[in-house]
Amino acid sequence: MPEDQTIIIGGGPTGLSAAYHLDGDWTLLEGSPHLGGWAKSIVADGFTFDYAGHIIFTNDEYAKALFNLFLGDNIHYQAREAFIYSKNTFTLYPYQGNTFGLPDEVLQENILGAVQAYLKYPEGYKPKHFRDWMDTFGAGIANNFLVPYNKKLWKGVPLEDISVDWLGGRVPQPSVEQIIDGAINIPKKNMGPNAYFGYPLRGGFNAIMDGLVGRLGDSGPLLIDKKVTRVRLRDRVVEVNDGAEEYPFETLINTMSLPQFVNIIDEVPQAVLDAAGKLRWISIQCVNIGIENNRTDKHWIYYPEDDTIFHRIFVQGNASPYCKPHPATSGYTAEISYIPGQRPQDVLGEEGLVQRVIADLELVGLKQPGDAVLHTSIVDMPVAYVVYEEHRKPTVQYIKTWLEDHGIYTAGRFGDWEYYNTDHSLLAGQRVADLVNAHLSEGARTDLKRSAAERVREQMEAAGITTDHADEWAKVAAAHKS
Ligand SMILES: Cc1cc2nc3c(=O)[nH]c(=O)nc-3n(C[C@H](O)[C@H](O)[C@H](O)COP(=O)(O)OP(=O)(O)OC[C@H]3O[C@@H](n4cnc5c(N)ncnc54)[C@H](O)[C@@H]3O)c2cc1C
Repeated sequence: MPEDQTIIIGGGPTGLSAAYHLDGDWTLLEGSPHLGGWAKSIVADGFTFDYAGHIIFTNDEYAKALFNLFLGDNIHYQAREAFIYSKNTFTLYPYQGNTFGLPDEVLQENILGAVQAYLKYPEGYKPKHFRDWMDTFGAGIANNFLVPYNKKLWKGVPLEDISVDWLGGRVPQPSVEQIIDGAINIPKKNMGPNAYFGYPLRGGFNAIMDGLVGRLGDSGPLLIDKKVTRVRLRDRVVEVNDGAEEYPFETLINTMSLPQFVNIIDEVPQAVLDAAGKLRWISIQCVNIGIENNRTDKHWIYYPEDDTIFHRIFVQGNASPYCKPHPATSGYTAEISYIPGQRPQDVLGEEGLVQRVIADLELVGLKQPGDAVLHTSIVDMPVAYVVYEEHRKPTVQYIKTWLEDHGIYTAGRFGDWEYYNTDHSLLAGQRVADLVNAHLSEGARTDLKRSAAERVREQMEAAGITTDHADEWAKVAAAHKS
């Protein structure tokens, strides 16, 4: 193994993308038995379930080119069918723009609140924190949806502790006119950034990772079951599986969770450890249930009320018909957030948790008591959402500066400690590879993003891949459904 090589910790979208964009030698060490990170899927009993609901959407042209390259003909675009279920009623996502159909007293609270908020908050008002931001839609919308839903999701984190810098472009912000229009008129459908989204036709979200791995060829070893447990900075060596093996490195790219990573490095100053100790996150358990009978045509549904253990149900079989064994079945991923270390499975037991989810699916009409259960499984995501607090940005920057001073780069959803989707993670992998390429070529830095983009375009042309297959896939999906 060359001593001047780059070691990549983690085989999720960021680590794999870094490998794809690196010029020099690299070895990727993935701690689990599977590549793909949180962008992977499981296939069981004819169902395909992602690690929590995943869809493809991006505003970045290069990320779009990467998705197209990795998926080729296997990408399938569709209009979002996302709903909120509250007061025994489905309303179209986003709640704040589509409350039509809710009981009269709820509509009255929502409209009155929106008008009062319009009069109260001057144009350009900057909310102090996430809870304050909710009030800008009015007390009705805040109390009937935004507060209960977000308390359920951001379990244990006071909403006043969460900043607003992650919301831009992610959460639709209708005007007061749109709120009132959405309350009194039948919804006109689909606001917001992911109104039209992509999903692999075959293989679940994991197909993106398969395509990426396929493009790596034999440019470096991808080693699974290699959990990095110690970084000996002075020796420039990482230890794997409690010292069972070690790998020398010239440059290290980390994509595992930043606070956990800092804690496995030898000789980290106390101030850096203290900074890492200030970063907070929340965890998710997904309970996958496959049932007989097709009970919904929705892609995903939000559940703000306390009567269900889950805050969201994702239905992969409606994103691609190949995610379920037969049209007359339903596969649900129930997402349940938890305070790190307090898994619902440990409180209720595995079977207890599954039974609770099945009972709640019956409560909300996604399963009828007679529907046979064809599959159950539980997936744990101990680090799922980073918590955006006011100090997050400077804290992360402080840690990164120390790491980079020691030739260590950290990137990705948990390496950068950012609310990244897969597109952002692929781009983070490309960015960190650029930095390492520049570092290794001692300043002979070219416009690597452009050259990488050109490389992708060449590969797409060579493979005969065009960028839009929506029509073809609509036909294939229709044929499979019938
Ligand atoms: C609930 C949820 C819903 C999401 N929905 C979407 C969506 O709809 N669309 C979308 O585009 N994105 C979505 N995402 C985001 C997407 O999953 C992430 O952006 C992406 O997986 C992050 O990639 P990553 O490589 O940075 O990190 P990860 O995916 O976490 O990969 C890190 C890898 O490092 C490995 N690792 C950890 N510790 C070690 C160690 N000590 N040694 C070796 N390896 C280690 C892990 O096993 C993992 O494989 C969602 C994420 C969550 C949590």
